[in-house]
Amino acid sequence: MSNDKEVVVVGSVNADLVVGVDRRPGPGETVLGSDLAVHPGGKGANQAVAAARLGGRVGILGRTGDDGNGELLRASLAGAGVDLAHLLVTPGPNGVALITVGPDGDNSIIVSPGANARLTPADVEAARAMIAGAAVVTFQLEVPLETVLAAARVAADAGGRVVLNLSPPAPVPDELLRLCDPLVVNEHEAAFLLPGHDADEDPAALASALLARGPRSVVITLGGDGALVADASGSSAVPSPKVEAVDTTGAGDAFTAALCLRLARGDALADAARYAARVGAASVRAAGAQSSYPSADDELPA
Ligand code: ADP
Repeated sequence: MSNDKEVVVVGSVNADLVVGVDRRPGPGETVLGSDLAVHPGGKGANQAVAAARLGGRVGILGRTGDDGNGELLRASLAGAGVDLAHLLVTPGPNGVALITVGPDGDNSIIVSPGANARLTPADVEAARAMIAGAAVVTFQLEVPLETVLAAARVAADAGGRVVLNLSPPAPVPDELLRLCDPLVVNEHEAAFLLPGHDADEDPAALASALLARGPRSVVITLGGDGALVADASGSSAVPSPKVEAVDTTGAGDAFTAALCLRLARGDALADAARYAARVGAASVRAAGAQSSYPSADDELPA
């Protein structure tokens, strides 16, 4: 069997530092919070862990730092079976997400990129064989855009499928959008790309406006309402199983990972999205991001 990867993730690896608060401090103010919880996170690492747990052959190109969080981040990826040959170490701090959770479960997040900001096009060059050998290469926007663009070109030139999750939303060149098959966004990220449009609009209208920006296909995730997939042949709604949502952190990453894995295995986009919606729904039933991801033999909600 080939050692080529089904899914390669080019993206971020962060430690999520989570504190519960009754209310957030204003400028110059101090409040007491709960005990600190430290979880492995980062959109790139989340997607790699999710796809590997589902049984995929997965590799990651990323950078950790050399502070005390690095071991936790590597251990989670390794435990899921992700190939870490291109998980590089940069002297200095790891990427960190400082997360406060309010009494209603609402999150406020500050991301400090740390080592993720040092992932360069030269790193892409060093990982060229892994990227070029992958069926699907998936990206988010927590690492430098020039690195994303360089890796997307390598993947596309080699005949791989490029999937971009425009998260956190940031302006991207049309060249990158044209390589996406699909572009994966939630309603807010969709509206970000479409001046004059609104996140509350009919998702089918958002999808056709997005397609006009150049991606070959589009997936809009809609939380508990599932997702909408669209390409030149039309659009279709993908329902989400009804589940009791405990914690939606990382649901979008679980969805995208499952989508990529099924695309790598030859599914049509709508079929891959139906599976991804079940994986996304499974991930909201438990607390945390990576810790909530199902494995290949878990029963998924229908
Ligand atoms: P993001 O976190 O990127 O905003 P979404 O909230 O749209 O992404 O969630 C991604 C996917 O996870 C959804 O398409 C859906 O399949 C699943 N999901 C999210 N929230 C729920 C929920 N409350 N109930 C069931 N499925 C959910």
